Amino acid sequence: MISQDLYDDCPVSNLTKSNLKKTQVREWTVEDSAVLYGLDRWGKDYFSINPAGNISISPKGRDKDNIDLMFLLQELNGRNLKAPLLLRFDDILEDRLKKLHEIFETAISKYGYKGHYQGVFPIKCNHQRHVVEKILNYGHKWNFGLEAGSKAELLIALALINNPEALLICNGYKDKRYIETAILARQLGKNPVVVIEQFDEINRIITSSKKLGAAPLIGFRAKLSSEGNGRWKSSIGEKSKFGLSVPEILKAVDKLKAAGLLQEVKLLHFHLGSQINDIAILKDALQEAGQIYIELKRLGAPMGYLDVGGGLGIDYDGSQTATAASTNYSLQNYANDVVATIQECCHTHNIEVPTLISESGRAIVSHFSILIFNILGTSSVSRDIPKKSSKECLPVENLRKTMMHIQEINKSSENSISRLQEAWNDAIKFKNDALNSFRLGYIDLPERAKAEELTWVCAQAVVDRLPENQLIPKELQELDTALAETYYANLSIFRSAPDTWAIGQLFPVMPIHRLNEKPTNLGHFADLTCDSDGKLGTFINNGQSKSLLELHKIKHNEPYWIGMFLGGAYQEVMGNLHNLFGTTNAVHIRLTNHREYKLDHVIRGNTKADVLTSMEHNPSELLERLRMSSELAIENGKLKINDAQRLLEHLETSLRQITYLHE
Ligand SMILES: *Cc1c(COP(=O)(O)O)cnc(C)c1O
Repeated sequence: MISQDLYDDCPVSNLTKSNLKKTQVREWTVEDSAVLYGLDRWGKDYFSINPAGNISISPKGRDKDNIDLMFLLQELNGRNLKAPLLLRFDDILEDRLKKLHEIFETAISKYGYKGHYQGVFPIKCNHQRHVVEKILNYGHKWNFGLEAGSKAELLIALALINNPEALLICNGYKDKRYIETAILARQLGKNPVVVIEQFDEINRIITSSKKLGAAPLIGFRAKLSSEGNGRWKSSIGEKSKFGLSVPEILKAVDKLKAAGLLQEVKLLHFHLGSQINDIAILKDALQEAGQIYIELKRLGAPMGYLDVGGGLGIDYDGSQTATAASTNYSLQNYANDVVATIQECCHTHNIEVPTLISESGRAIVSHFSILIFNILGTSSVSRDIPKKSSKECLPVENLRKTMMHIQEINKSSENSISRLQEAWNDAIKFKNDALNSFRLGYIDLPERAKAEELTWVCAQAVVDRLPENQLIPKELQELDTALAETYYANLSIFRSAPDTWAIGQLFPVMPIHRLNEKPTNLGHFADLTCDSDGKLGTFINNGQSKSLLELHKIKHNEPYWIGMFLGGAYQEVMGNLHNLFGTTNAVHIRLTNHREYKLDHVIRGNTKADVLTSMEHNPSELLERLRMSSELAIENGKLKINDAQRLLEHLETSLRQITYLHE
């Protein structure tokens, strides 16, 4: 545990270079790193730092068996499984599933609820075969089922569910074939519930049921009027694209009754959007849905199931706040609210309580995968003072004077901020003078270079003198970012962390080793793609965010490995082939006995041949073209035979390898 005074000593929220300096007096410890990266807040269930300064993983839960992540990576390296690498800890998956059940069981016994909980996993969160199979496998004892939102997902669910008690919730828009498949699957002994999302699906259900002489289990997705919040707030409310409004539900009941299908209406569903940040939103929705459930029962539908959808959030930054990267409730609070609210609704109206279903995806799969990437190198602007020459142009001379002026400013003097601001304004002006003079041909390239270098020296001098605990003008605050180190990551964020780019999602990112060493740099990451959006430049910061992350100086000939955590939901399927970077290698790991592990599956990343083929290129044809042009070059005496051979061998080998850089 981290003692409180350490928090005070080293506040995570405004850790800047100057704060780092303040703690220099005593040695840096792994506890300092845990505080700095918020590990104890977002990761305490499974992750910690061991005395060697490495991340240690306890995949079966806190205080259970653990494994040193660096040890594991070295062992994987030995098998030629190198970064970037997706590690999937199936024990974590199992533990999360167990937790989900435990919270509902705890709430059910706490409130004396006379029904039970039966979850389904929404396949769209992580479609990978081994993931879906493992979830069904681990969840078998609780009759855990699946939720499908498309015909392709329906196919997965139908084929993989082999527990006759498990539910298959059929969401998404449905055509005739989707509905007929669900009806026939019911006769096969499965439990597909066709959840009506759109009013005209009712006609298709009625027609298909008549045609096949059999009916599906039917549910309604309600369009609630409760206000949503957060990023997916448009998933509910009157304008949402999903679900039936209350008048539509009433009409649907009439129609189904007339068609003799009302006795198949068993379920009411709503979904508030993913990552509900604020529990108050859920409470309102539960009350509204509870009332609709009771009305449906009164109208003669047998009912029996209330499906509260997804939305159970993840506290990515551990701040326990109703902000985008966090939640203001715990898992247990969530289950308590679901159970207590529905209990009260039904109790008041003397109606039997329903079986509760949740479609929690993010909450199950976020923790189990960790993306590991290596740093290829770093770059930063030069802080060296350029040598003075006998005759310097005026802008350079002025910049030198400005630099000396800044160096004389004492940071504890009363008006230091305004003096620094003034001096920085001067520096910018002189730099622009230099650029203009260069454009007009008055100064040469070396003079221009000097002007740029001196500007950076001025910027660094300003940053070094900014006083702590005072309001700093935005322009000066941002100098830190401009001066920061860029860490080049062997990664495509478009492939492996697309939500960081698409929706500004924050995941915890931190080095996974050297955590007993003080990180002395402030940096951000640039990925391999030729896209200026291909970067990681926003980091968790206890309810806020920060643009720079504390990182270590990389050492020559020693890898520097970074982990991105809690990214097990949505990232893989949303990832794209930008610049033709494909999937990374992925490894499923399970702990056996203490410190022993087993690789259950290794899923090879896309090779270059794979990504080329997916764009309709033919790798062997491409090779053949290059072979022909090399023959021509040999013929013209431009290329030696063995060099041509070497080129072709490089290309052939490269086609068989994954798309990332090799260490
Ligand atoms: C996406 C989705 C889910 C999963 O939501 P999470 O927040 O990941 O739990 C559940 N149900 C429906 C209908 C969805 O569209």
